[in-house]
Amino acid sequence: MAHVRKPLIYATALNTGIVVAEAIAGYHAHSLSLLMDSVHNLSDELALVSLCLAYLLPLRLSRDLQRSANLLNSAGLIAISGLLVWQALARLMAPTAVLGTFPVVVGLLAAVGNGGVARLLRDVRDQNPAIRLAYLHNLGDVYVSLAPVAAGVLVTVSGQSLFDPLMALLVALWLIATTVQEIRSAGDALLWPEDAVCGHDPLPVHELV
Ligand SMILES: [Zn+2]
Repeated sequence: MAHVRKPLIYATALNTGIVVAEAIAGYHAHSLSLLMDSVHNLSDELALVSLCLAYLLPLRLSRDLQRSANLLNSAGLIAISGLLVWQALARLMAPTAVLGTFPVVVGLLAAVGNGGVARLLRDVRDQNPAIRLAYLHNLGDVYVSLAPVAAGVLVTVSGQSLFDPLMALLVALWLIATTVQEIRSAGDALLWPEDAVCGHDPLPVHELV
């Protein structure tokens, strides 16, 4: 199954780069929209790590691990997003100067990075519904990463830093809504890939006779 594991590991590594770059740049530029997209990509990171584990660990172990990890991750994500909503509201009332060029440049790089993650997953998307879901999600994330870009452009053009917390607020509310929806729908087959099998494996004997 190396041909499935490799693109999954590369995609996870690339996504890690996006999370770290956005977190560092967001911190230095005082850009909440960039920090928020970093948190959003961190949520995708957890999904990608789960997929990697599903293909690396024995089935039962990876399934049990992912069940508990998924719940913890979702709760953690909602908590971090809530904290950023709080920060964004505080910033809206008392604006802080934001370096607009940072969210523009790093947001564009994140969009390209998310496109790269989707490209890596594209070749193996037919292996498993969870990989297909991650592929489609990261394809959509190319546009989500443009949120800090839009915030940076608006801040630079208008000279008003409030566009940055405003955009962070939108992304945070979207992330909270989608995470809650995911917990509620709890589509077992999609959340915990039970059949982490490879399409190229030989058929079981009883199916051959
Ligand atoms: Zn995402």
